[in-house]
Amino acid sequence: MKDLEPILLPGIEAKRPLIIAGPCSAETEEQVMRTAKELASQGIKIFRAGIWKPRTKPGGFEGVGVEGLTWLKRVKEETEMYISTEVATERHVFEALKHGIDMLWIGARTPFAVQEIADALKGVDIPVLIKNPVNPDLELWIGAVERIYNAGIHKLGVIHRGFSTYDKQIYRNQPQWHIPIELRRRMPNLPIYCDPSHMGGKRELIAPLSQQAMDLGYDGLIVETHCEPDCAWSDKNQQITPDVLNYILHMLVIRDTTQTTENLAELRSQIDILDNQLLELLSKRMRISREIGQYKKEHSMPVLQATRYDEILSKRISQAMELGM
Ligand code: PEP
Ligand code: MN
Repeated sequence: MKDLEPILLPGIEAKRPLIIAGPCSAETEEQVMRTAKELASQGIKIFRAGIWKPRTKPGGFEGVGVEGLTWLKRVKEETEMYISTEVATERHVFEALKHGIDMLWIGARTPFAVQEIADALKGVDIPVLIKNPVNPDLELWIGAVERIYNAGIHKLGVIHRGFSTYDKQIYRNQPQWHIPIELRRRMPNLPIYCDPSHMGGKRELIAPLSQQAMDLGYDGLIVETHCEPDCAWSDKNQQITPDVLNYILHMLVIRDTTQTTENLAELRSQIDILDNQLLELLSKRMRISREIGQYKKEHSMPVLQATRYDEILSKRISQAMELGM
């Protein structure tokens, strides 16, 4: 993936963060136009709206379909914003392109239809963003990026929207930041955008998640924005008004990613020394573990003794807490 091209759309500054905003779903022409005009007046340049909505359960709002694309076309003509939407099938790609869509994204529930979408995109030169799959599988995510790249799309990016878990405590989708961080290590030129709306699932988490994404060097944000969030037909708890979006964006602290790291050199060398010591200690511990394993084998003991395992875990956890970790 050497010849990845930056996602530069004429008229949009190549500056962090790139912002994509708009409603979860296009609902009515009036709602789309009102939201778009308010966003355009705040200086937002790329509009999003879901036209086909993949829902987890039947019975939810499944999107207005092709008619909504004519409203997006109006957004483009009247506000000069770029327009983007989510595609999940070959037909969606053809319809979206026919209506002048400038940017597409592939949803989190689509990883196995990516090849069909990739084939439909052959010969097309628009940016495509790939959401992380619902399950925390980096190889599946990278596989989707490669399929689209192999179709000849070189203006590529990914959207981190978090991963599904059974246990939804704070977030609707767990961030698992280490996964996109590993993706950045493996594909340093691939832009990463954060979707704090689907990640948090609540309005009040949009600002802190956006800040965290910026602190991790993300390239931009895609934020669900609606002229009347409380009346939204889908994802209403996580949508904000264009005004609130503007406020959040102004509060963001964007740290310079190219800043010199010289002043960290001393602290980093201390970390390196400690890491070396930790590894040596762990390898000594491993040798003893092996001896224990050998003993258990020779004496036909089961691998796990639950009480001992529990004792180790609770003792070490309370020691660590006493040490302020
Ligand atoms: C969306 O962005 O509207 C959407 C459906 O998101 P996700 O695929 O992340 O659930
Ligand atoms: Mn949504």
